[in-house]
Amino acid sequence: MTDPGELVLVATPIGNRADLSPRAAQVLESAGAICCEDTRHSGLLFSRAGIKAPRLISLHAHNEASRIDEVLALLRAGERVALVSDAGMPAISDPGGRLVAAAHEAGARLSVVPGPSAAPAAVALSGFLSDRWCFEGFLPPRGRERRQRLAALSASSITSVLYESPRRVDRLLSELALLCGEERPVLVCRELTKLHEEVWRGPLRESLGRWPEETARGEFVLVLAGGGPERARPASAEELNLLVTRLLEEGMSRRDAVEEAAQRTGTSRRQVYEALGPARKASSDPL
Ligand code: SAM
Repeated sequence: MTDPGELVLVATPIGNRADLSPRAAQVLESAGAICCEDTRHSGLLFSRAGIKAPRLISLHAHNEASRIDEVLALLRAGERVALVSDAGMPAISDPGGRLVAAAHEAGARLSVVPGPSAAPAAVALSGFLSDRWCFEGFLPPRGRERRQRLAALSASSITSVLYESPRRVDRLLSELALLCGEERPVLVCRELTKLHEEVWRGPLRESLGRWPEETARGEFVLVLAGGGPERARPASAEELNLLVTRLLEEGMSRRDAVEEAAQRTGTSRRQVYEALGPARKASSDPL
């Protein structure tokens, strides 16, 4: 690339329009083109902020790969191209990462206008240890990968951050309570920077049922405190029972559910069977 253009990642508000920084506005206005996750959504933001936006290019999860050549051609022609998502930092649980990688490989200049992003905002609000924290984003909705990710984060000693949809937040909190113990502290943020902002912190036990699947609305980010050695404790028979029941409901065979519960909680299969009680032990699905 002889005359490299520049790809600029621009953070946009996660709720409050006033959080669009003056430098973000200036960069957006001076760009040759802006890649937007949703051109209508961003077009509205720009017009409300009084930004005379240049050409808008649609770049979302389903067309990102096919847009890359077009954007690289603009960068090769020496253009400055901005990249935004619907909210927060592009390429963070949002499209843009593949374009960013391709721009690096093509030798383009890259820069960033940092700004709003739900994860660091929530970590800062949590008051949990934040020298190190793990961004988990959205967990897979179901299946083995979800179970493995949940097991790993429940065993982690550092603070974890999760994004979740309102329909699934209650289920996620109960899974975390089961795996981490009900006393593990959690911060739940809903609608950060918006009119109905809610910031709640407490033990997982008290979070259960607060945001039921049927009525919960808005955007959620969760911060889970790390499991320090002082919190490590063996799972109770009741917790093992609940965990196996949930795994069976998810469609696992009894044998696999016992194996999985043992792995997740660091107990032996024998202990899990003991927790299930004599009736279940006598079932046709042996150890
Ligand atoms: N790129 C964004 C960022 O930097 O935070 C994240 C985009 S991701 C598709 C959207 C998710 O982020 C939401 O489902 C929610 O979990 C979280 N989120 C975004 N805005 C939020 C807000 N105002 N309050 C709470 N969570 C928010």
